Amino acid sequence: MGERIDYRDGRWRVPDHPIIPFIEGDGTGPDIWRASRRVFDATVGKVYGGKRQVDWLEVLAGEKAFKQVGHWLPDATLDAIRTHRVAIKGPLTTPVGGGIRSLNVTLRQMLDLYACIRPVRYFEGVPSPMREPQKLDVVIFRENIEDVYSGVEYRAGSAEADAVIGFLTERFGAKIRPGSAIGVKPMSKFGSQRLVAKAIEYALRVGRRSVTLVHKGNIMKFTEGGFREWGYEIARERFADRTVTESDAGKGDGGRLVIKDRITDAMFAQLVLRPDEYSVIAAPNLNGDLLSDAAAAQVGGLGLAPGGNVGDGYAVFEATHGTAPKYAGLDKVNPGSVILSGAMMFEELGWNDVATAIARGLGGAIRSGRVTYDLARLMPGATEVSTSAFAECIIEHV
Ligand code: NAD
Repeated sequence: MGERIDYRDGRWRVPDHPIIPFIEGDGTGPDIWRASRRVFDATVGKVYGGKRQVDWLEVLAGEKAFKQVGHWLPDATLDAIRTHRVAIKGPLTTPVGGGIRSLNVTLRQMLDLYACIRPVRYFEGVPSPMREPQKLDVVIFRENIEDVYSGVEYRAGSAEADAVIGFLTERFGAKIRPGSAIGVKPMSKFGSQRLVAKAIEYALRVGRRSVTLVHKGNIMKFTEGGFREWGYEIARERFADRTVTESDAGKGDGGRLVIKDRITDAMFAQLVLRPDEYSVIAAPNLNGDLLSDAAAAQVGGLGLAPGGNVGDGYAVFEATHGTAPKYAGLDKVNPGSVILSGAMMFEELGWNDVATAIARGLGGAIRSGRVTYDLARLMPGATEVSTSAFAECIIEHV
């Protein structure tokens, strides 16, 4: 019988048989989920020999939910995720037409999932546009709630935009072209510091070398500049004995975690030119969004990129690709993104051996050259196999 995962004093309390809700997803989601679950169960079995096991709990969302219970996002699903704290999901169809809440946005708000975490690393054999793609191995912590994504935005010529422009012009002498669209970029000390603290805690926990704060503070001094300043401040205040700034580390870091910062545009260049100098990256929402996809492209694209939305005591892991509807039910697409999202989930829960074993299995499967069509068509000499056969191949290499 499964038990609930708990969270107390800033730590996960994970029973040996945790109940974990899953949403299999639309389109190719069921094919991918079936394969992923096989890999998760087989790996947990191999690593813990029956002592530990996940008790999967299906919850509905998307098309399947709409067909079965008449809602795209049933309250029961939200309740189950809130109760069990940690969940994993496949891709969902975004219904065209207004009035339907997005699951991702709803969960993010409801559970305050303020960190979007995207590990980006290379798997040997995957075609990449870079000469040395293996040099990139970063984990990006993107702030998930604030910044220009806060939704405070008004259409050009609207009464709201005109009122904001009128206020800023009259009150503060701001120069804004009349009739402009207006967006607001709120960034708080609280929101920035809890994100940076999460990145630092992660880096310390898994033994990473550095955390880089990525900001455009040279131009946006108070928002992005604030992010930089508040980031250094929290490192100093909460992690003084275990961190050192880059400038102080000139005399040697003494085994401590190095905290540094880069201006956003320079960071894009650095990731291409000197990728091995970066490890954990903490960024405000927009910078993090752009960097995540650019970094994923460097190691061979989004097909294998996992993601997690994590708050304090709640986490939802997911594929970063969509439903690929034209391949639905064909047992054809790559399950790698959901499988690696699962590895992230196990790492978050402290089942590190499972996370490592899954990554090893996936790496071995790719090196063996028996891969799904998306990789096979780009890898000379590779053999195309189905989603389920790829999963079996991963399990063999665990
Ligand atoms: P998509 O990611 O589904 O497809 C883009 C391309 O990538 C297609 O050529 C597709 O065949 C390919 N592809 C995607 N996943 C693949 C996999 N696992 N293996 C191999 N090839 C893969 O994006 P889209 O076509 O823009 O969107 C389709 C649907 O998915 C839409 O309803 C969209 O709203 C939804 N979507 C959901 C999420 C999510 O739930 N997180 C994310 C993006 C898109």
